[in-house]
Amino acid sequence: MNESRQQTLPVAIIGGGPVGLAAAAQLLTKGEEFILFESGSSIGSSVLEWGHVRMFSPWHYNIDRAAKEFLLKSGWSPPNEEEPPTGRELVNDYLLPLSHLPEMKTKIYLNAKVVGVARKGLDKLKTAQRENAPFQVYVEIDGETKVFEARAVIDSSGTWRHPNPILSNGLWTKAEKMLENRIYYGIPNVKELESRYKDKAVMVIGSGHSAINALLELADLKGKFPETQIYWAMRKKRVQEVYGGQENDGLPARGELGIKIQKLVDTHQINILTPFYIHGVSETDGKIIVTGDLKGEEVSINGIDEVVVSTGFRPDTRFLQEVRLSTDPAVESVEALAPLIDPNIHSCGTVRPHGEAELRQPEKNFYIVGMKSYGRAPTFLLATGYEQVRSVVAYLTGDFEGAKEVQLELPETGVCRTNLASCCEPSSPAQQPTSSCCGGPVKIEITRSSCCG
Ligand SMILES: Cc1cc2nc3c(=O)[nH]c(=O)nc-3n(C[C@H](O)[C@H](O)[C@H](O)COP(=O)(O)OP(=O)(O)OC[C@H]3O[C@@H](n4cnc5c(N)ncnc54)[C@H](O)[C@@H]3O)c2cc1C
Repeated sequence: MNESRQQTLPVAIIGGGPVGLAAAAQLLTKGEEFILFESGSSIGSSVLEWGHVRMFSPWHYNIDRAAKEFLLKSGWSPPNEEEPPTGRELVNDYLLPLSHLPEMKTKIYLNAKVVGVARKGLDKLKTAQRENAPFQVYVEIDGETKVFEARAVIDSSGTWRHPNPILSNGLWTKAEKMLENRIYYGIPNVKELESRYKDKAVMVIGSGHSAINALLELADLKGKFPETQIYWAMRKKRVQEVYGGQENDGLPARGELGIKIQKLVDTHQINILTPFYIHGVSETDGKIIVTGDLKGEEVSINGIDEVVVSTGFRPDTRFLQEVRLSTDPAVESVEALAPLIDPNIHSCGTVRPHGEAELRQPEKNFYIVGMKSYGRAPTFLLATGYEQVRSVVAYLTGDFEGAKEVQLELPETGVCRTNLASCCEPSSPAQQPTSSCCGGPVKIEITRSSCCG
């Protein structure tokens, strides 16, 4: 295909979440054609799954600048910039009005799942004429597979639909899959699922904001139904490691999560199991058994009714098998981003803004952006994603200088290291741990496999 014909093709956007729609707004600003495919029945369908959760970023950080301009021109009333919205508010008050704008609406396909991306006529191995061949995007719509041609592809399909499993080695097992109806991946809407969780023994696994959100909701339920037992399992050595910046966090709502969870731990409303490396999960007599290494000892935690798994997410690249990709072997992020976001190295969530140059793939004009660009790293912020797509679109439309600019200031996390002088580990053999940071009393049955106890 000659280059000028290729230039008339649209840019294909995969995923109608906040970052995909921001990419669309940026393309509209440049007068560039696009098509957007969203697998769900609504724009922002992944966000709606955690719609009951309040975000920690205020509106100010959650609205893309180009999108805001289009919305304001249409008579939209912007929300209070200083307030953090819930996920549902993000969709209802921002993403939906944006997607309904006449210049957007006709270019968005809902219930449209991308199942393959390739260069027309060329598999991954072929190099000759590769850059001149258009992309072919295979999309399942209404039970049919349709093929769309595109001059560039922006993959903003997120990671929400691909949670990590229970086992600390990251493997999915048949046993876990068989317990599907007793395990919730993500953040359950506990208020709506009251009958499922009330007066039950619930184990929450994970140490991120999602786990904290789930625990806070369960603690509210426990206030109403005191028989509810909450267990919190994580790999971190000490629970204080998850409290974060608290009062010093540049995003007060995020700091608040750390403050609230500390209060629950300190008042023994949650039983802490840490560090806990889970090796197996099974069911006996209607109860879930979780086995693993707790503080260096093999144990079985018996008597659990429900498990909430908030162990993060991983990107799905199966539909990109014919695209030349470069991702980090550990983080599974875009390769150049890994040193900036690797949670093994960075204790804080502050990641410097970046753009097209860092996101460039060996496959010319193909980009992974948004949550998915961070792979398994949990520190992605929408404001970063908006800056990513601004830069990528600038590059795709020939504004190479604009692509290099950094037009974003991010809030600092505040505290990147906490004082972890442990209250659980006595500083002298005579001193006994006293503070509640070691967790409240564990009431469920723990079987230790060691004969010596
Ligand atoms: C509970 C929670 C709270 C958060 N709070 C904040 C916050 O306060 N501030 C902040 O900056 N960030 C926050 N984040 C992180 C992040 O900003 C969000 O996850 C955000 O939704 C990521 O946007 P995205 O567009 O990259 O991906 P998503 O919102 O996940 O959107 C991806 C879309 O792609 C669609 N899709 C997936 N696969 C396909 C396919 N094959 N074909 C077509 N469509 C597909 C999905 O249905 C989805 O709608 C939060 C995340 C969570 C989970």
